[in-house]
Amino acid sequence: MSKTDKLRALPSVDEVLRSPGLAGLRDRLPHRRLSQWAKESIQFCRDEILAGKVDQNDAWLRQIVHLIERRQQADSGQAIQQVINGTGVVLHTNLGRAPLAKAAIKRMEQATGYANIELDLESGRRSKRGARVARMLAQLVGAEDAVIVNNCAAATMLVLQATAFGKEVIVSRGQLVEIGGGFRLPDVFVASGVKLREVGTTNRTYLRDYEAAMGEQTGAVIRVHRSNFQQSGFVTEPSIDEMAALDRPENVPVIDDLGSGCIADLAALGLAEPTVSASVACGTELTLFSGDKLFGGPQCGMIVGRKRWIDPIRKSPMMRAMRVDKLTLAALEATVEIHLAGRAMDELPVLRMLAADPQSLRDRCEKLIQTLPDQRCIDVVSCESPVGGGAIPGATRPGFALKVYGRNANRVARMLREGNPAVQTRVTDDAVWVDVRTIATEEMENLRQRLADVLGQVEVESDE
Ligand SMILES: *Cc1c(COP(=O)(O)O)cnc(C)c1O
Repeated sequence: MSKTDKLRALPSVDEVLRSPGLAGLRDRLPHRRLSQWAKESIQFCRDEILAGKVDQNDAWLRQIVHLIERRQQADSGQAIQQVINGTGVVLHTNLGRAPLAKAAIKRMEQATGYANIELDLESGRRSKRGARVARMLAQLVGAEDAVIVNNCAAATMLVLQATAFGKEVIVSRGQLVEIGGGFRLPDVFVASGVKLREVGTTNRTYLRDYEAAMGEQTGAVIRVHRSNFQQSGFVTEPSIDEMAALDRPENVPVIDDLGSGCIADLAALGLAEPTVSASVACGTELTLFSGDKLFGGPQCGMIVGRKRWIDPIRKSPMMRAMRVDKLTLAALEATVEIHLAGRAMDELPVLRMLAADPQSLRDRCEKLIQTLPDQRCIDVVSCESPVGGGAIPGATRPGFALKVYGRNANRVARMLREGNPAVQTRVTDDAVWVDVRTIATEEMENLRQRLADVLGQVEVESDE
């Protein structure tokens, strides 16, 4: 049979829609949706025929109905769902970075309906969006003022554009980074309308390099914190204190793109990360950071610093395109309150997880194993949990994990991932590792059930 004949044998959209096999879907779904899927499915078969991939001549109707059913199933699943994070990576970008504090979730719920996002309840007049949270945030980090945008990437673009449009921004060659997802500094400079003025070398940049580049055309100086890679060996660069003290005209700000947004000193956990207040205190004009990294809040970008620089940013036409919604503001307000009250280590999941001591993690693992019906191929092992997500590159915390041995680690990992609730794990050394550092206490029972389920199906490695 020729291709033309095969194509002729394909049913029409009408025939497909009338077919008895679709009766169920016909009753439940709008006609337009069903006919769209019918057209797509017929087209799929047509392409297969043209590509010479099928030798079938009949039964097209049955196959097309099947294709439509598959499309319908794929479409009815919930795309975004809860995932138990068994990777141990505290700030996991693919899993939405920082889990929110309970107080932040509650506050967000209160804002889901109408909320006084731009209304002063006392006077009944319009008020500035996010005025209270900006005030509290400024107070928290010792800055004069603050504005909040969608993420730190937006903050970077907005700040570059508002401070140095058409002018040069000086940056060290060692800091011309790619943050990820195509966010590469040189491109960001172009998109923000500023000229890149690179100084120094990849490994060594001195204060005098910045000084030599400074001139009429200079709009700003920026320091970009290395939050996703490390440099070691023959390297040097000025500290942010030294950069803030640079001799420069008063219309040239020093901008610190800090990224991770660390508020409390984490040295006690063996983690060296510069704090926002230190960046502000040393005299930089503007400091930028994310809300959902070490700050432990919702996704947003924060710009803190001198009022004289924040004012024009707030008035920039780009600001409107980058402003956050009521849910983000509500969650952020509660998160800032927690920081201000000094309760961050107790109430912010990110910090609690980072601080969790190895012994308590081991206890949780052992308690869980004891309640499993089949304990043959699971064990408690020590591990290192990475901080992850654009904060403190290479840093890990010592902890404990459940290690599942079995014939096929990838299959076990997939079973855990595809069940409900999904469990994301790490596969290393032909075993599945479930690091409990990033699993909330209230998720442990769900994890136990999922593990019990899956272990029942895993073949045990035999000794022979
Ligand atoms: C993470 C990071 C960003 C981007 O922040 P998002 O909130 O993800 O947009 C920018 N700069 C630095 C230094 C970062 O670490």
